Amino acid sequence: MAMVIEADVAVIGAGMAGVSVAYELAGEHTVVLLEQESQPAYHTTGRSAAMFLESYGGPEVRALTAASRPLFDSAGSLLSPRPLLWVAPEEQMDRLATLAAAQPELRRLDPAEAAAHCSALRTDWVAGALLEENASEIDVLGLHQFYLGGARRRGTTVLVGAAVRAGRHDGSRWLLDTAAGPVAAAAVVNAAGAWADVVAVALGVPPLGMTPLRRTAAVARTGRVDRAWPLVADVGETFYFRPEGAGVLVSPADETPSEPCDARPDDLDVALAVERVNEATDLGLRSVRTAWAGLRTFAPDRKPVTGPDPAAPGLWWLAGQGGYGIQIGPALGRMAAAAVTGGAVPEALSVARFR
Ligand SMILES: Cc1cc2nc3c(=O)[nH]c(=O)nc-3n(C[C@H](O)[C@H](O)[C@H](O)COP(=O)(O)OP(=O)(O)OC[C@H]3O[C@@H](n4cnc5c(N)ncnc54)[C@H](O)[C@@H]3O)c2cc1C
Repeated sequence: MAMVIEADVAVIGAGMAGVSVAYELAGEHTVVLLEQESQPAYHTTGRSAAMFLESYGGPEVRALTAASRPLFDSAGSLLSPRPLLWVAPEEQMDRLATLAAAQPELRRLDPAEAAAHCSALRTDWVAGALLEENASEIDVLGLHQFYLGGARRRGTTVLVGAAVRAGRHDGSRWLLDTAAGPVAAAAVVNAAGAWADVVAVALGVPPLGMTPLRRTAAVARTGRVDRAWPLVADVGETFYFRPEGAGVLVSPADETPSEPCDARPDDLDVALAVERVNEATDLGLRSVRTAWAGLRTFAPDRKPVTGPDPAAPGLWWLAGQGGYGIQIGPALGRMAAAAVTGGAVPEALSVARFR
C-alpha cells in the first residue's frame, strides 16, 4: 500500500493562489502542495498580461490590489513602471465619466494629451482618456518563484503530477486520493483555479457556480513601438495593448465561457484584437508572432471566493480571482492563510468577503 503523506494543510493547485497561501502557511504548519500538471504555473498564472492596475475591478478587488503593493515591494523588484491609459471613443464617454467620478485620483487627459503618452493613438478616435500613473508590469514568474521557492525552503512538500481525484472527511481529517498517492490533512485549501468546482465535487461538496471565461492575448509584430508606452485599454473593455519586447501585446478582452481545460486561442479572437487595436491606432498591425489563451474564473458575483466552505469542515476556498489573481495574489494569500489557521485577518485585508 502507498505511504500516506501527512500534513496540517493540503493546498490543491500550484498557480499563484496555491503557492502564495502555501508560502504564508509554511513554517508554522506542515504543508503539502498538490499540482496536477508536471509544471506549476502551467495554466492561468503562466498566461496573464502581467499588469498591476489599482483602478481595475470592483471595490474589493481594488482594495486587495492596494493591500498587495507593499507585499510586492517586500518580495523584491517585481514591479516595473507601466502606466495605464484608459481611453474612450465618443460612444464610451459616459463610461469614462463614471470611472472618473468613482476614481478621482485618475488624471483626465484630452485626446492630444493621450496621444502624447502613446503616439500611436489616433486623435480622431480617442474622445477622452484617464491616466493611472502608478500602474506597473509584474514579473509574474518571479513572484510565483518567490512563493514556491520560499514555501519549499519553509518545508513545504511540493508534488507535481498529483491530481486530486477524490477526497472525504473521516470526522477528524481529509483523506485525499491523488495521482501521486494518498494524502491526509486536517485542512484542505481549494486553489484549483478553473477546476475549483470540479475539485469541490470530487470532495463531495456542492459547487459554487464558478465560470471559467477564456481570454486571448497575442504579440503582434510592428516596426514602431516605443517601450515607454503605457498599457492602453478602452474603458468599454473591448481591447487593450502594451509594448512587449519589440512588438505589442494585444487582447480583445474576450470572455468566452469554457469548460476547465488547457485553453487555446481562437484565430477569430486574435484577429479581433488586431482589428480593434488598428481601429484606435495607426499601428497597422498585420501579423502576430505568438498567441495564447487562459481561463479567468469568476464566481457569480465576480468577487474572489476566500473562506471556509459552509458545508464541509476544514475545507477552504481560494478561488474566483478572475482577471486579477496576480495583482491581488499577495494580499489574498496572506488573508487566506490567516483565515485557515484561525488567526486574525489583518485589518487592511478584511475588505474581501468570506463565505
Ligand atoms: C489573458 C489573461 C490576462 C490576464 N492578465 C492579468 C493581469 O494583467 N493581472 C492580473 O492580476 N491577473 C491577470 N489575469 C488573471 C490571472 O492570471 C489569474 O487570476 C490567476 O492566474 C489565477 O491563479 P490561480 O492560481 O487561481 O489559477 P491557476 O494558475 O490556473 O492555478 C490553478 C492550478 O490548479 C491546478 N489544479 C486544478 N485541478 C487540480 C486537481 N484536481 N489536483 C491538483 N491540481 C489541480 C491546475 O493545474 C492549476 O495549475 C489574466 C488572465 C488571462 C488569461
